[in-house]
Amino acid sequence: MLAAPRLPYYPGPVHLDLHRHLEGSHSPAALLEVARTFDIRNPLFFDAAGDRFRTEAELAPAVTMDGPSADAGVFYDRIVKARAAYVSVPAIAALAVRAFREAAADSDGFEMRLSLFSMTRTLIEQQGEAWKAVAPVAFAERARPILLAVLAARDQVFAETQVPMVVRLGLSRTFESEAHYRALADMVVEHAGALVGLDVLGIVAGADREPMPAALVEILTALRRHLPDLTIHAGELAGHESVDRTLALDPRGIGHGVRSLENPATLERLAAAGVTLEVCPTSNHLLINEEVAAITRMHGAAPLPALQRAGVHCVLGSDDPTPMGTSFRHELEVATRIGVDMGRLEADARRRWTEMTGQTL
Ligand SMILES: [Zn+2]
Repeated sequence: MLAAPRLPYYPGPVHLDLHRHLEGSHSPAALLEVARTFDIRNPLFFDAAGDRFRTEAELAPAVTMDGPSADAGVFYDRIVKARAAYVSVPAIAALAVRAFREAAADSDGFEMRLSLFSMTRTLIEQQGEAWKAVAPVAFAERARPILLAVLAARDQVFAETQVPMVVRLGLSRTFESEAHYRALADMVVEHAGALVGLDVLGIVAGADREPMPAALVEILTALRRHLPDLTIHAGELAGHESVDRTLALDPRGIGHGVRSLENPATLERLAAAGVTLEVCPTSNHLLINEEVAAITRMHGAAPLPALQRAGVHCVLGSDDPTPMGTSFRHELEVATRIGVDMGRLEADARRRWTEMTGQTL
């Protein structure tokens, strides 16, 4: 599941980033290095008039949000732009190595989430094909080298740094094709031993921002025989009822979940079930600014310390450092500033790590 950490027990504080996405972890420096190495002359990276690759300062505004926006499309646009570098499996491998190195330098251990469907779809499109024209099993075989490249990047960077790191497979509730998801899941089972669990992510438009199609639940249920540790994004773009609905699927973690603070009964259920919320303060500040302000007024504290006071297990995450212009170190500073009980945060992170991996840090 993961290579053994360098020590059986870390005596000092351990700061674990337990909610971080690979697609949101391509820094401008990494994107430009890969663009140069693979000669990607996309206008995002290359200034044709000047016949030169752009500088980090020129690229950064295109891939980073410049402030809060209630329109999740603004965030998603930044993710989509960075995908311009997914031109080949070696290019994705190079980006993954950079992303793992940067995450290792930014924390004492971390979990990286891999949106394998969207990366595969993007690669196929970048190579000039329509992904829907690729049959499901063939699609899964196009995904396999991406998965193996990401796992190899993890192993390489662990060997270099000895920083504990695990990879979680993300499945999107956007659920573009049941047949392609099923084939992808069948392929992933063969590599389940190299993964730490499953995540449900993705932003959809419409009245219900966090639906879970029945066929996706079926696929998750089958996959959980091989990857039991399930996390689900909820209680972020949608209210506490999305967390209540999610709890019926018995996840071990909930991505964000801060809007549970809108309902005392939801908080009680979370505390009783021992489910861990993965709280990402800067992400929430950018994407659900007004909701966070209302929760803060209601509780007289920011969401993370309020959740701690309600007896809910919480860990900290950077979410998508590049589009959100943050780092895990910055999230630690924010957590300190907003009154988080840092000792308790660390204890919850260690507890969660052991729950996921069976290993004690
Ligand atoms: Zn997330």
